[in-house]
Amino acid sequence: MSTNARKTAVQTIARHGLDAVQRPTERPRPLPELFSTNVFSDAVQRQRLPRPIYESLRATIDAGKELDPSIADTVANAMKDWAIERGATHFTHWFQPMTGLTAEKHDSFLHPTSEGRIVLEFSGKELIKGEPDASSFPSGGIRATFEARGYTAWDPTVPAFLRETPRGSTLVIPTAFCSWTGEALDKKTPLLRSLEALDRRAVRLLRLIGEKDVERVMATCGTEQEYFLVDRSLYFQRPDLMSCGRTLFGARPAKGQEQEDHYFGVINQRALNFMQELEMELWKLGIPIKTRHNEVAPSQYELAPHFEQTTVATDHNMLTMEILRAVAERHDFACLQHEKPFAGINGSGKHLNWSMADDQGNNLLDPGTTPHDNLKFMLFLTAIIRAVDLHQDLLRVSVATAGNDHRLGANEAPPAIMSIYVGEELQGIIDALVEGNAPAARPGGGMKLGVTTLPELPRDTTDRNRTSPFAFTGNKFEFRAVGSSQSVSYPNLVLNTIVAESLDFVADEIERRGGTGERAEVIPQVVREVLSKHRRVLFSGDNYSAEWTQEAEERGLHNLRDTPAALRHFASDTNVALFEKYGIFSERETRSRGQVLTEKYVQLIHAECLSGLQLGRTTILPAALTYQHRLADSIAAVQRVSAQIDVGPQVELLQRVAAEIGRLEQALDALARAGEKGEGLHGAGLEQAEFYRDEVVPAMVAVRASADALEGLVDDDLWPLPTYRELLWVN
Ligand code: ADP
Ligand code: MG
Repeated sequence: MSTNARKTAVQTIARHGLDAVQRPTERPRPLPELFSTNVFSDAVQRQRLPRPIYESLRATIDAGKELDPSIADTVANAMKDWAIERGATHFTHWFQPMTGLTAEKHDSFLHPTSEGRIVLEFSGKELIKGEPDASSFPSGGIRATFEARGYTAWDPTVPAFLRETPRGSTLVIPTAFCSWTGEALDKKTPLLRSLEALDRRAVRLLRLIGEKDVERVMATCGTEQEYFLVDRSLYFQRPDLMSCGRTLFGARPAKGQEQEDHYFGVINQRALNFMQELEMELWKLGIPIKTRHNEVAPSQYELAPHFEQTTVATDHNMLTMEILRAVAERHDFACLQHEKPFAGINGSGKHLNWSMADDQGNNLLDPGTTPHDNLKFMLFLTAIIRAVDLHQDLLRVSVATAGNDHRLGANEAPPAIMSIYVGEELQGIIDALVEGNAPAARPGGGMKLGVTTLPELPRDTTDRNRTSPFAFTGNKFEFRAVGSSQSVSYPNLVLNTIVAESLDFVADEIERRGGTGERAEVIPQVVREVLSKHRRVLFSGDNYSAEWTQEAEERGLHNLRDTPAALRHFASDTNVALFEKYGIFSERETRSRGQVLTEKYVQLIHAECLSGLQLGRTTILPAALTYQHRLADSIAAVQRVSAQIDVGPQVELLQRVAAEIGRLEQALDALARAGEKGEGLHGAGLEQAEFYRDEVVPAMVAVRASADALEGLVDDDLWPLPTYRELLWVN
């Protein structure tokens, strides 16, 4: 047996095999019974609340009416009873600060009485408002000039739920997080604001085209989540994975993903066991998980829920990421959600499927079968095309993170250029409309859009352009540039805002031309004009190709290659004005968000720099020196036996090892200097971020090059870090 910790771990994993998997002790309950059991759902609300209170609450949830605070005590009490019956001892306000993670602080229901006993209480006040200490959360300077206090406010649009753990349960109240001045300190508040903005503008346009019954439009969202599973005993031997979420070192394995034998392959038994327990947990929380499959890379997987109203879908994705990690632990796995855990191996993304639905249940991006539906569809499509073209920079910023910089533009994920793929048929229709040679109106048809009835648009998945960052897939758009570890809040918020603005523009144009009565003439005119101006953002070719980069430049599209480049655009005058006009962010809020994003980029890369330095100096370098020593000893020993033996090649090997060690040392020193200088730029905002991009990242790449070269030279028994082969294939 080897004394190398890596190898011991591998032997253990091989031995325990499926024993590591916990077998269920009882048969799981049938899914219809199980689904949503831990949710204070509509059904539970109806059953447990007095009728008028139930109706008042539903008016807030379903129709967006303002919450009546007088119902809070009754609702809180019903929630508490329901939770306590299920073993809850605590409640928590659950929120999404700008860290990108979720936050919670638990309070028990316990209240002491004067007789030295206790009663369990939960008041309306406690339901509606919490006061966590806000001073430790990022605010981008907002809090500094005010009080450090922030408060959490109940978001009734997402139902409360129970988090079960083996020793009890906690009642979780989804909340928004603001400062005392009402400024948003979280990712939910602006998302709620953007949904309201979109709702109003979409309803406005629908009214203009004669849909008088629609009261409300909601954005819908479905998130496809990719992740890796790595055995925990190997994970704990990779300090870089533990502290940065990705491997900073690791030579390419002999077998990579080239054979493409993992994608949609048979799911291995251990991973499947994990998924089944995971899904059970998610279903109990009312998260409608639909699909599971292997992804492109070894040990990479994907899951996707059925789509939901956006705030619910966003919260559910945050919860899904948490529960992925928690269930992975129980199965001796670590769940990696970083965008690029392994160099040279497929990274992880999160496709954000986005559409809009009215309160009659109609998907506004469904082309439909009647001329009216076609018209509606073309109008919304036109507005979206305009929105993406005008606000490419904002969409790009919404997916800009240090982790995602490894993916976007790296020929496995969409490039950093934002363009739209609409499919051949639709592209044909758009081109015909713009060029004015579309077929004339059908005789007797009320609408002259050029095309009276759109052809049936294919909805199958086979001919979709997988390289496009923003693709129309039959009845929704799929934003594919989102990072796997990201909250979908910002990408959703940006989509909602820019589309709201564009819907306004289209409605203004129609009104300005008196199109409300005689819309038959005016609407196609507006559609044609807008499309001809913004058609340049449509692209159906290979987004990974060098020709596209060139062509996009000629078309005048942005190519914001990395996070600092994208962030340069975030708080531009146009964007500040846009967010202000639609009530998403005040100017101060926009600027503070930009600051938080910048700081986060710097912090992440600085942490990688420190982790790389430490691993390089205290783990990799010593192993290489030991090997060098052994080689030298061995050569000397051989020569002692006989000077006749040719040790020339061995000396050459020693020289190569020594030279690589020298390069590693130099690269580590250079990295240390870059990191120190970067840190010294604290307060320089984007300039600091640019320094990290231009100086620190390349210095890390140089360190890695030498370290990875040494991995290919040094005795495997001496190599201290689990290799890519072990991380990706041993499970
Ligand atoms: P694929 O991308 O594999 O073709 P689907 O078409 O089934 O898969 O959808 C992928 C995701 O898109 C799922 O989460 C699904 O619920 C979601 N989705 C489908 N329709 C809509 C819609 N109208 N709005 C938002 N998301 C949607
Ligand atoms: Mg998809």
